Amino acid sequence: MSVSHYFDTMDYGPALESDLDARAWLARHPDGFGHFIGGAFSPLNDGTLFDTQEPATGKVLARVTQGTSADIDAAVSAARAAQANWFGIGGHARARHLYALARMVQRHARLFAVLEALDNGKPVRETRDIDVPLVARHFYHHAGWAQLQEREFADQVPVGVIGQIVPWNFPLLMLAWKIAPALALGNTVVLKPAEFTPLSALLFAELAAQAGLPAGVLNVVTGDGATGAALVAHPDVNKIAFTGSTDVGRLIRQSTAGSGKSLTLELGGKSPFIVFDDADIDAAIEGVVDAIWFNQGQVCCAGARLLVQEGIAEDFYARLKRRMQQLRAGAPLDKTIDIGSLIDPSQHARVQKLVDIGIREGASCYQPTIDLPAGGSYFAPTLLTQVHPASTVASEEIFGPVLVAMTFRTYDEALTIANNSRYGLAASVWSETIGLALAVAPALKAGVVWINSTNLFDAGVGFGGVRESGYGREGGREGCYEYLKPRAWAQRQPRKAAPVASSGTGTSFLPPVDRTAKLYIGGKQARSDGEQSLGVFGFDGQLAGEVGLGNRKDIRNAVAAAHAASAWSGTTAHRRAQALYYLAENLSARAEEFAKRIAALTGVSNAAATAEVEASISRLFAYGAWADKYEGAVHAPPLRGVALAMVEPLGVVGVVCPDESPLLALVSLVAPLIAMGNRVVVVPNARHPLVATDFYQVLETSDLPGGVINIVTGASSTLLQTLAAHDDVDAVWAFGDAALSADAERLSTGNLKRTLVDYGMATDWHDVMAAEGPMWLRHATQVKNVWIPYGE
Ligand code: NDP
Repeated sequence: MSVSHYFDTMDYGPALESDLDARAWLARHPDGFGHFIGGAFSPLNDGTLFDTQEPATGKVLARVTQGTSADIDAAVSAARAAQANWFGIGGHARARHLYALARMVQRHARLFAVLEALDNGKPVRETRDIDVPLVARHFYHHAGWAQLQEREFADQVPVGVIGQIVPWNFPLLMLAWKIAPALALGNTVVLKPAEFTPLSALLFAELAAQAGLPAGVLNVVTGDGATGAALVAHPDVNKIAFTGSTDVGRLIRQSTAGSGKSLTLELGGKSPFIVFDDADIDAAIEGVVDAIWFNQGQVCCAGARLLVQEGIAEDFYARLKRRMQQLRAGAPLDKTIDIGSLIDPSQHARVQKLVDIGIREGASCYQPTIDLPAGGSYFAPTLLTQVHPASTVASEEIFGPVLVAMTFRTYDEALTIANNSRYGLAASVWSETIGLALAVAPALKAGVVWINSTNLFDAGVGFGGVRESGYGREGGREGCYEYLKPRAWAQRQPRKAAPVASSGTGTSFLPPVDRTAKLYIGGKQARSDGEQSLGVFGFDGQLAGEVGLGNRKDIRNAVAAAHAASAWSGTTAHRRAQALYYLAENLSARAEEFAKRIAALTGVSNAAATAEVEASISRLFAYGAWADKYEGAVHAPPLRGVALAMVEPLGVVGVVCPDESPLLALVSLVAPLIAMGNRVVVVPNARHPLVATDFYQVLETSDLPGGVINIVTGASSTLLQTLAAHDDVDAVWAFGDAALSADAERLSTGNLKRTLVDYGMATDWHDVMAAEGPMWLRHATQVKNVWIPYGE
């Protein structure tokens, strides 16, 4: 036999990782697992046990407990009892605990990797080389944030007891992403792992207790969606952090609306993988393999939509098919395989159904002729070409090893197709022209962009989506804020009815009644659509004037005007700062007149009214100052390259102002939004809207482009409902009574817009700590992380 013969016929032999340790751990729980509550496993109850299987073989791996409302109650009580002390021990002590958890994960790395591969069906090569190292990195990184908490987050306090719900695709990694920041910053946790994959969470909880984590700080309750729903509904949970499907994310938004629970949602995606004709094709092919066949494509940020520039498409597909033929499917514990089993036969059926739909809708399907093991839920790597952008498979998340390919001709067309999705989680851009790649990244609707790379993650770099991919970030400084709340807000008290001034405290300054103040839309005064007006009364009960009674059509017009002003989001920070300073200058020129107006309408003293105007001028200055100083960061994750954390505006934001401080509250809400490049539709203070309609006269003399600030007067709750339900509004800020907050959150569910509400708690708008500064800017922006590896 010649050497070349051996080269040609050589094949991989099996290289099975040992499962002895994992099986031994399972054998120590022969009757099954209770929940992990208050530092120990709860007693078993035969009637509530269910099986968890090995997806690759269908064999039963262990029995776990279906969590009931009573179990959730016990876990939340344990977490509540532990929280004050856990925060009280201080950042350094928590840092030591987090560090111990990181070390614990490293000590048991192989056990975790094997157990995860058995319970999920994914290749042990991935759990060993990706999941588990990232888990350890997450605890190390957040040990650091715990250590620095008192210095870096001095104006913040923990949220409290956090309910966390994770899916089955990265059970241990999602656990780490959720619990590391929560625990580091002084919260305690009740975690509900996915029904299919509960084991690594139970192992983690047991080993964490052995590593000295105090009882009650981390509780794990296993079970299905009903257990998750019970956790979401529990009244003593302060926040829900959820990763999973967009449908369940919506349900959770609905059921928590108005409850005062904060919420972060990491949901699905249909991320574009864009290859320009000057890309390094071989590198891009390897990128595709990683983007869509990593974890069998069961990855929320999978590069599931391949967009290739037309001129290279045929060559690219041919090379990709050759590469697909080299992929190896096999047993998860075989270290030589690329592709393991899908999680469950139900997921296999779902993926197959979508592929069939794609073919029926005209796609051409390629699957390599590779061996798939018998049994289990193996699905061949699949490429669908000739897919129309309107096809079901181009828009639906398949969550399996199926790549959907389309072509584009120009840069603009690439962006249009890439952004033609209700999701916005991640994107991957391939081009050797750095200027091109860096121009595409900010234009993509996505929370994460990888340039000439894909699926890069790090604890120091935030991850999360926009649009229907959810809101909130995990990792990095921005991820820490998701588990903190401003100290100044934590001390707010319920809003009292605005005081009725005793007569004589204000100077009468009532204008003639014959003038009806109009709405202000697209930089112009506009009559309300219904041609109806609303009487406005001063504090003394006299008719002070009339304003237009805006309706849903006016809101729609205002939203359209705000969209048309999109250039504002791309304008320079310097220019936005200038516009805010100039607004302040113009307001200052009319300060006396505004003060008299406020006094006459609200009945506050002249001195108080003057103070409100001065505070409003100062606030405009403050946000002028912040406009070019609230910036992103350059991260140095552990790779040759950088990740740019770019601060981006949300887009079009609806703002409903509260009944107090008519000028100062309006300025405090609108200024941070426009400073960051948003455009707003404002519903002013319903009792004193004339202050806002006076304010548009200031806007008219400013150099703010038309459509950046639009003002629609009328009934707050009615107008809020249109704004919150509007699919072209990206976020809603609603300040007023508790019902307004509940409506804003409930109606935001359609396009999963972000909300900022006060649940009827009063803000002292004069208090700079509570009413001004970075915490508002954080709500006015979202962070996009752009990964840029470099080198040959
Ligand atoms: P689901 O949304 O069904 O489940 C996620 C978690 O929520 C599970 O623990 C599940 O329990 C639980 N759950 C189900 N129903 C409810 C409910 N009504 N109330 C509270 N909790 C509930 O998603 P899958 O597990 O099917 O995961 C796949 C989906 O998750 C994909 O769409 C994917 O895109 C998305 N995903 C997003 C990620 C991201 O970071 N953005 C990461 C990973 C996945 P049970 O297991 O019993 O059903």
